[in-house]
Amino acid sequence: NQKPRVVVLGAGYAGMMTTKKLTKLLRPEQAEIVLVNKHNYHYQTTWLHQVAAGTINQNQVRMMISDVIDTKHRVNLIQDSVLEIKKDEKTVVLENGELQYDILVVGLGFESATFGISGMKENAFAIQTIDSSRLIYDHIEYQFSRYKNEEGNKEELLTILVGGSGFTGIEFVGELTESVKKLCRKYDIPRYKARIINVEAAPSILPGFDEELVTYAKSSLEARGVEFRTGTMIKECKEDGFVVGEGEEIKAGTVVWTGGVQANSILGESGFEITKGRVTVNNDLRAPGYRDIFILGDCAWVMDKENDRPYPPNAQNAMQQADTAAQNIASLIYGGPMQEYKFENKGTVASLGGSEAIGTVFDRQLFGKPAKTMKNVVDNRYLFMLGGPGLVLKKGKLSLF
Ligand code: FAD
Ligand code: NAD
Repeated sequence: NQKPRVVVLGAGYAGMMTTKKLTKLLRPEQAEIVLVNKHNYHYQTTWLHQVAAGTINQNQVRMMISDVIDTKHRVNLIQDSVLEIKKDEKTVVLENGELQYDILVVGLGFESATFGISGMKENAFAIQTIDSSRLIYDHIEYQFSRYKNEEGNKEELLTILVGGSGFTGIEFVGELTESVKKLCRKYDIPRYKARIINVEAAPSILPGFDEELVTYAKSSLEARGVEFRTGTMIKECKEDGFVVGEGEEIKAGTVVWTGGVQANSILGESGFEITKGRVTVNNDLRAPGYRDIFILGDCAWVMDKENDRPYPPNAQNAMQQADTAAQNIASLIYGGPMQEYKFENKGTVASLGGSEAIGTVFDRQLFGKPAKTMKNVVDNRYLFMLGGPGLVLKKGKLSLF
């Protein structure tokens, strides 16, 4: 009797935490655990806006998977890219081979959703991976350097245009206020010449979020030089800017799209049914019709039965799902009931650059420094769960106050 093989695709929040839990729930003789990831490192997606703005060293954002998961004795780590899931053959196609599974966990994360906006995919940068994020900062700096070297002082080289003011767009422009200040000093450019413009279709930034917190965020960011164009629909993206509203062009040297995300397209391409960009899974986190496939994190919609709406696709949710998925996998292997997933929303905290932040935690509003401290606590808590106090000391955000 061969032991079952559990294959986890993607080492993001969902994949890392599921793998870690499985190593605790299953003994080596009960199951083989395989983790497949594009890189030999795990990165914190929630810190990528800082990489894109150049306010954090990329190495603080990532860690070797083998430093936090026992890849010598317990988990077989395969560094490769997933190309397709052949679900009826229980096979995953990788760039460099094929892999059979008995139980599959899909945690391949998100990709930028451009909603068919002409030129967006081709011309705008997206905050998606370590590589795509550091490219943004390198580009911004290159534009500042060009400005000092090219004839005609084209001031739009110094403009950074950000499409979308959800949490990603807002956290990113917050970080930009810090880095633009530094770049202006480095390249002897007066600060007023560099512009950070955020464009949002909804009437307000952070649509749907607590009104008082939104007002605080907007005035805090405006005071540090961010310009907002709310109620402004982006219709097209050109190499040098957006076309908005009735044909107005906003020009910039750097154009970044943070207007939405969807599941990794491998799922749709592998024949899973996609609704509004993701796979709607059963409440035990399995793909409809498949007793051996779990889909987690940003690849999935999990419905909140109480109000018939999906839970928010965020890191908090991805991590909590890992618990239920690992328990259910263990039940599949040695028998037991399937658990239903229930998201426990502990709140939302967003940084606004420097020591500024906003948030709601257990229904309490937080502004400024207390919010920033809470944000760092949340970030460090994840590191603690993943690698204990040692990882917090190595990679954590330790300037709490
Ligand atoms: P991910 O964390 O994206 O991980 C996916 C993994 O799959 C990656 O490691 C990737 O390398 C790997 N992968 C992808 N494709 C392949 C392939 N073809 N082959 C092999 N491996 C592959 N949420 C919060 O709750 N709080 C926050 O503060 C917060 N801040 C955010 C800030 C930013 C800038 C962004 C972009 C998002 C933020 N989110 C936040 C949302 C959160 O990051 C996501 O919901 C979360 O990352 C989803 O986790 P995941 O495990 O599904 O995917
Ligand atoms: P989002 O979908 O939340 O926001 C996208 C924004 O772009 C929306 O405000 C939308 O109105 C706007 N938009 C879309 N099309 C547009 C157009 N054509 N013209 C102008 N504006 C347009 O996406 P996101 O901000 O990338 O967030 C993705 C997920 O990650 C969310 O679940 C979010 O909660 C989570 N996240 C959380 C945090 C945090 O908790 N601190 C930080 C970042 C992201």
